[in-house]
Amino acid sequence: MTHVILITGASRGIGRATARLAGARGWAVGVNFVGNAEAAATTVSEVEAAGGRAVAVRGDVSIEADVVAMFDATRDAFGALDGLVNNAGIVAPSLPLAEIGAERLKRIFDVNVYGAYLCAREAARRLSKGRGGNGGAIVNVSSAASRLGSPLEYVDYAGSKGAIDTLTIGLAKELGPQGVRVNAVRPGLIDTDIHASGGQPDRAAVLGAGTALGRAGTAEEVAEAIVWLLSDASSYVTGALLDVSAGR
Ligand code: NAP
Repeated sequence: MTHVILITGASRGIGRATARLAGARGWAVGVNFVGNAEAAATTVSEVEAAGGRAVAVRGDVSIEADVVAMFDATRDAFGALDGLVNNAGIVAPSLPLAEIGAERLKRIFDVNVYGAYLCAREAARRLSKGRGGNGGAIVNVSSAASRLGSPLEYVDYAGSKGAIDTLTIGLAKELGPQGVRVNAVRPGLIDTDIHASGGQPDRAAVLGAGTALGRAGTAEEVAEAIVWLLSDASSYVTGALLDVSAGR
C-alpha cells in the first residue's frame, strides 16, 4: 500500500485528479506545481476534502535543486516516500518540425525528459530498499504520442514521451530488485488545459470524437490507472506501458 507520494504537476489536470483520488484512499500527497500557487492550493484542499493529507511544493522539474527540495519537502511533511507520479509535462503550439525553433526544442526536452529523469533518479535514490528506502512504485506519465509521432503538431513532444517509455522499461529492470515497480500510463485525448497551451483548446473534444469510444477522456479516468499502478493491486506489474487512450 502506497501512503506517501509526490506528484509532479499536480496543480491542474491529470496530476490534480490523481492527487484527489490518492486523497480518497487516505494517502499523503506532495502537490508539486511550478507557477500556479492558487491552483495548487485548490488541489491541496480537494485532497483534504477527499480524506487525505497534502502539501503544496513549488519547483521546476527541470532544475535539479528544485527537484531535490520538492522530495525533501514531501518527506519533511509526511515521512519517507512510497511513490512518485512523474506527471509534469508541456507542449508548445502545433508546428511542423521545420518551423520549430531551438529554444522551444530545448524547453520541451528540458521539462519532459531531463525533468522526468531527474525526478525518477531522485525517487530511485529514496525508494530503493538497498539505499534504506521502503520500496514502492513510480508511475511515469507518457503519452499515446510516443506511438503516433504527432506529425505536423509536435514531433518534439512525441519524441520526449518516447524517452519516457524507454526510461520506464530500463528503470523497471534496475529497480525491481530494489522493491520498486516502475510503469507508465500513455493517455490519449484527455480534457485538460494542456491543449489550450498548444493553441488548440478544443483538440481533445474534436479528435476524441474519432476514437473507438467516440469522446475525449477525463483526467479522472487517467488517474484511476495511475493510482492502480501505485497501489498493491498491481503488485506483479512492472515495466508496463498502459494505454489509456480509447483505442487511439
Ligand atoms: P496541464 O493540465 O497542462 O497541467 C500541467 C501541470 O504541469 C500543471 O500542474 C503545471 O503546473 C505543471 N508543470 C508544467 N511545467 C512544469 C515544470 N517545469 N515543473 C513542474 N511542474 C510543471 O497538463 P495535463 O494534460 O494534466 O498533462 C499532465 C501529463 O499528462 C503531461 O505529462 C502530459 O504530457 C501528459 N498527457 C496529457 C494528455 C492530455 O490529453 N491532456 C495526453 C497524453 C499525455 P502550473 O499549474 O504551476 O503551471
